[in-house]
Amino acid sequence: MQKQDQQKEPGRESAREDTSTSTELGRSGIKVVSRIERDEVLNALIEHSSDAIMVLDEQFLVRESNPAARTMLKLPRDEEMGWKCREVLRCKNLNRMELCGTSSCPLTRALQQHGPLPNEELVVGSQRESFCEVSASVTPVDASDGRGAVFTVRDLSALKVASQVRANFVSMVSHELRTPLNSVHGFIELLLQGHMGELTEEQRLYLGYTQEGVQQLISIVEDILFMTRSDLGQFETRQQGVQLYELVRLVTRNLQPQALKAGVALVLAIPQETPLLYIDPQRIKQVLNNLIANAIKYTPPGGSVTVTAREHDAHFQMITVTDTGYGIPLEDRPHIFERFYQSNHSQQSKMGGYGLGLAIARLIVEQHGGTISFDTALEKGSSFYFTLPIYEGARQDTL
Ligand code: ADP
Repeated sequence: MQKQDQQKEPGRESAREDTSTSTELGRSGIKVVSRIERDEVLNALIEHSSDAIMVLDEQFLVRESNPAARTMLKLPRDEEMGWKCREVLRCKNLNRMELCGTSSCPLTRALQQHGPLPNEELVVGSQRESFCEVSASVTPVDASDGRGAVFTVRDLSALKVASQVRANFVSMVSHELRTPLNSVHGFIELLLQGHMGELTEEQRLYLGYTQEGVQQLISIVEDILFMTRSDLGQFETRQQGVQLYELVRLVTRNLQPQALKAGVALVLAIPQETPLLYIDPQRIKQVLNNLIANAIKYTPPGGSVTVTAREHDAHFQMITVTDTGYGIPLEDRPHIFERFYQSNHSQQSKMGGYGLGLAIARLIVEQHGGTISFDTALEKGSSFYFTLPIYEGARQDTL
């Protein structure tokens, strides 16, 4: 009897799955939902979702969109199919740099890495008045007619208003701190130069410590100001044709005292024939400074730090800062570009710092359309490399 029941079971279930539109209570008491019903539920979910959902194909064309997507991107109902991604989505990073056609394009990255890209903060929209700050997830899918990706986009405008108020506050406080700190720094400098009378060796020593401390405070305030301004979309680059060799020479000269103190040799190995780069010199100095200062900090005495450059492709040069230092522990590697991230390893506490240097470096490099990455081996050293655009003539100056 029991056996008979068991034999019937599979056939009954499959018939129900394919054709039934009603729901029943299963053995466990949970409602058994048929496939047709499941499709209906999923359709309703997509139709009524407040998140914009779109299906894009490999040719960057919008194949499907839900009502929330059409409202967010102001797409006419009838013409939703076949819109070009760069005409309707037009992804930008938070500094409004267009990602279409670059290696940072979220669709390109998701397809290349064959895996989902969760929670990318982007600005989407084709016209300035319809720009919308969003959190986007991109999931590659394989369909019978080729590969594509599902874009799920959540509007962050309301959240952003709250965080903008906070960022404005931080920006204002940092700005207000900078002025008195700079005057303290200036007066210490005057004292050290003997403008207020001769100083004893001991006074000179302690004033030197004070000056180092104030200098450190100024850099923290500058970095926080930089980050918050960037979050507020107030970070612009002023790019021009620049000699890389000269720039690196200036940075290494300023860091020479630090390297001497650490017993680390600084080697500048940039070929003279390196082409002019199309960069903002002040910002790229900041990147070089952060990377070289880190390399000195995390290299034991007797080691070296070398800066080199070589062609990356027809449009980009690659600059590399290599040290012979401690290397980066495995567990820290995925996090070192995060804001305020610092390793727990034994050397860290002696090094100072506050975990903003690499986050700032990445922000600046990406704002130039480049990428930044690293290789590392424990007790052997690390190489940080980044790409920067080559100056291609006056055409760029008018952009
Ligand atoms: P910090 O102010 O702590 O140096 P960064 O953002 O510049 O902050 O770096 C983040 C973390 O990455 C550092 O705390 C350190 O653990 C690691 N790191 C960065 N550069 C190097 C390097 N050249 N060698 C070893 N570890 C490094």
